[in-house]
Amino acid sequence: MHTIDTVYINGQFVTPHGTEMFELVNPTTGQVDGQVRLGDVEDTRRAIAAAKAAFPAFSRSSKAERGAILERLHKAVLARADEAALAQVEEYGGPVNTSVNRARYTAQMFLDVKKVMAEHDFVRTVSKSKVKLEAVGVVGIITPWNSSAWFVANKVATAIAAGCTVVVKPSELSARQNQILIEAFHAAELPPGVVNVVNGRGDVVGAEISVHPDITKISFTGSTAVGKGIAGLGVDTMKRVSLELGGKSANVILDDADFAKAIPMAVAACYMNNGQACIAGSRLLVPAHRLEEVKMLAKLAAEAVVVGDPHDSKVALGPLVTHKQFERVQNYIRIGIEEGAELVTGGLGKPAGLEAGYFVKPTVFAGVTPEMTIAKEEIFGPVLSIMTYRTEEEAIAIANGTQYGLHAYVSSTDLERANRMADQLIAGRVHINGIHDDLLAPFGGFKQSGIGREFGEYGLDSYLEAKAILGETAQYR
Ligand code: NAD
Repeated sequence: MHTIDTVYINGQFVTPHGTEMFELVNPTTGQVDGQVRLGDVEDTRRAIAAAKAAFPAFSRSSKAERGAILERLHKAVLARADEAALAQVEEYGGPVNTSVNRARYTAQMFLDVKKVMAEHDFVRTVSKSKVKLEAVGVVGIITPWNSSAWFVANKVATAIAAGCTVVVKPSELSARQNQILIEAFHAAELPPGVVNVVNGRGDVVGAEISVHPDITKISFTGSTAVGKGIAGLGVDTMKRVSLELGGKSANVILDDADFAKAIPMAVAACYMNNGQACIAGSRLLVPAHRLEEVKMLAKLAAEAVVVGDPHDSKVALGPLVTHKQFERVQNYIRIGIEEGAELVTGGLGKPAGLEAGYFVKPTVFAGVTPEMTIAKEEIFGPVLSIMTYRTEEEAIAIANGTQYGLHAYVSSTDLERANRMADQLIAGRVHINGIHDDLLAPFGGFKQSGIGREFGEYGLDSYLEAKAILGETAQYR
């Protein structure tokens, strides 16, 4: 049994004022294997007070001081990477290889952010004035359970680089991996109060962070519905908000693409993290006259995916995170069938031999039309919807015809054509011929996929306020 019974406030692990216990269930076995004692409003207020007290000194720290902190954080997080990976495997069923890579990547993030900070001009001359970029204030960080420690690390690293102090509310479903991260933060000897962490319920701890007058900015990653609520709660105190929300990303396969590569890639883009990825390419748009070939290739690719115990290095898809999430995905599969989509492979029920955990059959639907629920709503499971188009204009209209605009994917052997398509897709990131990563390029959503950008200089700027000093500035002396 894993027990987490502390919150982290002002550089110390302390017993929370809150007494509610939250059970941690291993999704591979369906068994309870841990518990978290949740913080409450009182704990949240103490954490905010600690972050507020630490802000004046920390916001005036030098780049060199903050760089040294980010370097220590990198080392401390890397030292715990294998443990963090195991927690991810057990806590949300992330396959072991992916979890190890992600945990190392989480440590790397601190060095990437350090580099961005070192190259950023915090004092500039604009016209006749001096412009300073100053830390925005105390930041509330609220994160989801998928890739959880990674989101916390990215937001904390960027906030520190800007000179902000933070109060973090991680998802209660990912308490173990975050506890390891916080212990690493503690080992890195951060100045007390710079990072404070309160495990707790969204509608208690998250809501208090969202309304508290001493929180200046909220950096949230999670569902669009909760993000809207947080943005609304923050209006009264004019909080800056960065919102990384949901998606229903389109993957457009042009008729000149190499289908033997592009279709398995499309299946992988949908099934990443078991479909529990905001950037999952869950809508596959293909030329109508190539549909039969696409169905065959997608079926082959989906049926080749190994589902099972995420400790096994051959497994690509583990269980979904919770029974609730399993039920939600089953419900979408049921709706897909009822609304008349053609089930190509997968479907309702658990894969044979995996009845104990929250396993879902890798599923592919064809004959999906833009009006169908499975084409419109974020499923957050391994369910691919194949849709057809007749012209490029129609492909663009279907791809852009959702409330979301997070990522998009395009495959073509003609790079000019692919780039023309990329220019017309309404998405924060467009991937051409593959699934790509770039931790320095901006990441975020158009439309209801969010507000603001993370990563690189765009991310750093979102934790900074521009102050213009006019008249007799130092530069004239
Ligand atoms: P969620 O919105 O349910 O929860 C996210 C966080 O918000 C959790 O810590 C939760 O406790 C907290 N919360 C819940 N209610 C709250 C409230 N009333 N006030 C304040 N905080 C509250 O999301 P989830 O189920 O944990 O994660 C899945 C969602 O996250 C998906 O929609 C996915 O697309 C999205 N997501 C987006 C990105 C991105 O970068 N755009 C990345 C990962 C996940």
